[in-house]
Order: sequence, then C-alpha cells, then structure tokens
Amino acid sequence: MLVVGLTGGIGSGKTVVTSMFEDEGAHIIDFDYLARLIVEPDKPAWRDIVDYFGPGILSPDSTLNRSALAEIVFSDDKSRKALEGFTHPRIFEKRDALLKAISEKDPCSIVIIDFPLLFELGLRKDLDKVILVYVPRDVQLERATMRDSLSQEEVEKRLHAQVPIAEKRSLSDFVIDNSGSLKHTRDQVREVMRELRELLKKQEADTPCF
Ligand code: ATP
Repeated sequence: MLVVGLTGGIGSGKTVVTSMFEDEGAHIIDFDYLARLIVEPDKPAWRDIVDYFGPGILSPDSTLNRSALAEIVFSDDKSRKALEGFTHPRIFEKRDALLKAISEKDPCSIVIIDFPLLFELGLRKDLDKVILVYVPRDVQLERATMRDSLSQEEVEKRLHAQVPIAEKRSLSDFVIDNSGSLKHTRDQVREVMRELRELLKKQEADTPCF
C-alpha cells in the first residue's frame, strides 16, 4: 500500500483535486471529515472543547459553531494548541483504523490522505509521498473569499497560520498546479497517479502485497 498525503493552502483546490484522485481509483481519507466526525455532540472531543471554551462556542442545536471557534483559534496560539490537543489524537486514531481496514481489504492500493495542515503538524514522516496542490496567492485569496464569503482579512489571517507555499513546494514530491482549467488539473492528476502506480509496482517487487 502506498500512503500519500495531499495538501495545499486554503482555497487551493484540495477538495476538487482529491475527488479527481478518487475518480482515478485511489482510496481517500479526508482529514476534515474525520475532524467533523469526532466533534459531534456528546463525543469525548466535543465535551473537552465545551469544557475549555465554554458553551458560547455552541450553535443552538449543540453542534460546534465552527466560525466562532475559528475566530478564536486563528487569533490565539494557545487556544489553537488546546483545540488541536482535544481533536488530533482522536482524528489520528480514526485515520489509523481506516488505513488498517483499507490495507486488509485492498493491500495493493494507493491511499490519498487530504491533510490541510500536513506540514504545519509535522506529518510528513508518516507518509510515503506528498502531493501539493498549488495556486498563486492571489488566486487562493479570490477562490477562498468567493466560496466562503470570508473577508480578505479573514483569509489572510488563516494564510498567516500556514507554512509559506514556497516552502511547501520544496518539501513536496509532486506539485499539481490548479491555477488553470479543471481539465489541466485532471491531466496532472492522471500523470501523478501513473507515477504512483509505478512506485507501487516497484514496492511490490521488493515486498509483495498479496
Ligand atoms: P479549503 O482548504 O479552504 O477548504 P480547498 O483547498 O479544499 O479549500 P476547494 O474547495 O477544492 O479548495 O476549492 C476552492 C474553490 O475554488 C471552490 O469553490 C472550487 O470550486 C474552486 N476551484 C477549485 N479548482 C478550480 C479551478 N481549477 N478552476 C476554477 N475554480 C476552481
């Protein structure tokens, strides 16, 4: 099995590109989906978060008010670390369980883990390869503000908490430029999948996965 991380800044197109990898036959693990799952009302992470931040960060239906929470943690490092302490170990547990289930069912597979903060959280070491979805900063700002109706200032604040894109480029094995058409992006995804299959074949020759 080949475990590949996919990352990129806010609004770079990670979701779009991940679904293209799924179309090409990769298994997908979505960090954001797992992050939402573990904070459902009354789950242990939800309880820890409410104890720490107070009921003010809840919506009327008891789910977390994500924008209220984001507002706090993106302007205060201590709160962000506390939130990560409540959520990350539980997310990683789920990720490991999913990886185990995939490897039992399909040992020769390519798994793409969509990790928005892969480098920021020092997760490179757990991965065979890393793919960066890249768009220039102005495109990132434009797409993120348009999609989430966030102000430019709010997006800038989130960008500020992320490792600079140039550094991410130098730490990645593959870069997918998503600043052009979706067709251009899909062609690059197909090429990366071709290279990943080659790698998997080589890996299999050393340690057969069947
Ligand atoms: P975030 O981390 O902020 O959730 P993301 O990296 O997952 O963002 P997407 O949601 O995939 O980014 O894309 C951001 C926005 O840009 C979406 O509205 C998406 O439809 C649009 N978009 C993505 N790729 C392209 C493209 N090649 N051309 C035009 N629009 C695009």
